[in-house]
Amino acid sequence: MGMSMGTSPDGDLAGFVRGASPGPKLRERLADAVPEEFFTYPGDLTARDHQALTYARLRRAGLAAPPGSELLEDPPALCALLERAAIADPALFHTMMLHYTLALGPIIRFGTGRDGARAARESLESMDSFGALLMTEVGRSNSHLSPRTTAVHDPATGGFVLRTPDVQAAKFPTSTAHPSVPKTACVYATLVHGGEERGVFVFAVPVRGPDGAAPPGVRIVPAPETTGLQVDYAAVLLEDLHVPHEAWLSDGARIDPDGSFHDPAGSPAARLTRSMGIAPAVWRAVISASAAITRASAGMLLAHSAGRSTLGRLAPRRPLTDYRNQQEAVLGALASAYALTAVASHVKARHTSADAPAGGPRTAWAPWSAVDRDLALLKAAATVAAQETVSMCRVHSGAPGFAAVERLNAYRGLTHAYMNAGGDNELILYDTARAMADLDRYTPPEAVPGPPDDGDLDSPRVWLFLAREAERRMRDRLAERVGDAAGAGADPFTAWNDNLMLAARTATACADRLTLEICDDAARSGPPALGPVLRLHALNWMDRRAAALLDEGVVPPGWLEEVHAARRRTCDELAPRAAELAAAFELPPVVTAPTAFLTGG
Ligand SMILES: Cc1cc2nc3c(=O)[nH]c(=O)nc-3n(C[C@H](O)[C@H](O)[C@H](O)COP(=O)(O)OP(=O)(O)OC[C@H]3O[C@@H](n4cnc5c(N)ncnc54)[C@H](O)[C@@H]3O)c2cc1C
Repeated sequence: MGMSMGTSPDGDLAGFVRGASPGPKLRERLADAVPEEFFTYPGDLTARDHQALTYARLRRAGLAAPPGSELLEDPPALCALLERAAIADPALFHTMMLHYTLALGPIIRFGTGRDGARAARESLESMDSFGALLMTEVGRSNSHLSPRTTAVHDPATGGFVLRTPDVQAAKFPTSTAHPSVPKTACVYATLVHGGEERGVFVFAVPVRGPDGAAPPGVRIVPAPETTGLQVDYAAVLLEDLHVPHEAWLSDGARIDPDGSFHDPAGSPAARLTRSMGIAPAVWRAVISASAAITRASAGMLLAHSAGRSTLGRLAPRRPLTDYRNQQEAVLGALASAYALTAVASHVKARHTSADAPAGGPRTAWAPWSAVDRDLALLKAAATVAAQETVSMCRVHSGAPGFAAVERLNAYRGLTHAYMNAGGDNELILYDTARAMADLDRYTPPEAVPGPPDDGDLDSPRVWLFLAREAERRMRDRLAERVGDAAGAGADPFTAWNDNLMLAARTATACADRLTLEICDDAARSGPPALGPVLRLHALNWMDRRAAALLDEGVVPPGWLEEVHAARRRTCDELAPRAAELAAAFELPPVVTAPTAFLTGG
């Protein structure tokens, strides 16, 4: 029987994948901004030439798309552009995301006052310069909480002196190594005024001029070449760099003529959260890109598998997809792609607390959960889900998936990078778990008798029951264990340190529950074909989390056999429709034909 390729998409499913916004005209314009030639690189390029081409393409894309300020106002449109870039070339996605969300975004958002950072904004909007972010410092963990780079106010000029105190505080990684590419950076620094630290602010600083030369006071140290995500990484040290007052993206803070300092944020801690308030645009982009490259990987795996014959001795010439392992891998990848697409649609449409910073809980590990707890958590969950699925697609695509084109390796590099980048996943999990344990702006799922529907694994009510029950039990245990340790006199480090594993599992349970709720909403409001494929996602979730569900006593021993049987039934139902499910992803042919070089295609 096997699976096939090449069916035309189910219009409703394709509509679900595309989403309601942007409309067809804008969508076409955004797709044209990243044409098919951007999906491959010519051979024989040096690493620097390769990077120069990435930036040249970024310029072309930026000029073809609507202006950056418009895109930042329209999250689904910006995400559509970034999704296309991610499928085409992860390095293009990374540099594009930095440009829009982490350079232009903070300049527009925090650059209050008419002249504030106008030149920087214009150079980025015109694509004459490319955006870079100087936030992370190389030598200490959790540097975002307390950058050692300072911006010392100079009362004589009204400007600031930016200083890297030592090599440990060098900003790294940054995308600034290419010697002839102009770069404008948003620098995160601790503002010092009148000898006092006033909190973390953003400064807009050209770090490479129109010819690529770094100005005096900016020392750029290129990093050795790497291949995981091919970008021009470098460390940047600011050596008493004098910047004018306008470089300060003050976000309403001011220094009065009498020299007094005023910040509407109210405190350095609240200022940090506000300065990190640019993150929701990053998280929406990362979640959307995770969904997009998972769709592309699933499409590639189906293309590899469909119609492929086997020579195994149990059943010579049996189609590869008749074997359960490959069938479940292909359909599981499709299911994961649909679930991530549902999450991406949800976050693109969702009103985030970006407009009301400091809406999240207190944090200890990173500033992220304080900005928007659930969005940060969904970013952590989406990158892990994408990493697992993309890696699985790579392995099940055999040699062609590794050696014929860079694509799956590059997607894997992207998902790996973003488990740290854009807010480190583990730190987000720990801060989420702490908020859960402390009931800090978090309400646990209610305890209800169950499971409903006699535990029928085909019932969405059962999946939600299991997820909620596991989350509640883990949270209670975590709170009890940390509370007991504190009660016995342990300091906060000791009380939490022995519970970090449980903390990560507890926050992951919360992310799982949120994801299943989003999928449930999508299945109810979306096309009927979505139901079975999201059911497969839920069954795979049960399989993946069986250890935790059993350990929490949410399910009895022997239950996994039922999950596997339900999965086989669902796969039998979905197998004839695999091509239709993949066709709705509307992937460009260049993505699904990794061995086309053999036939000159
Ligand atoms: C490809 C890529 C591109 C990037 N680009 C940029 C960029 O352009 N500009 C920029 O400013 N930054 C950039 N970053 C940096 C990114 O923000 C950081 O990597 C991330 O915040 C993690 O910080 P770190 O690398 O210092 O690692 P660490 O903070 O050392 O964290 C590494 C791991 O250590 C553990 N850990 C750390 N602290 C704790 C703790 N207190 N408790 C328990 N466990 C802990 C966690 O497991 C964590 O995952 C990029 C990162 C990558 C991977």
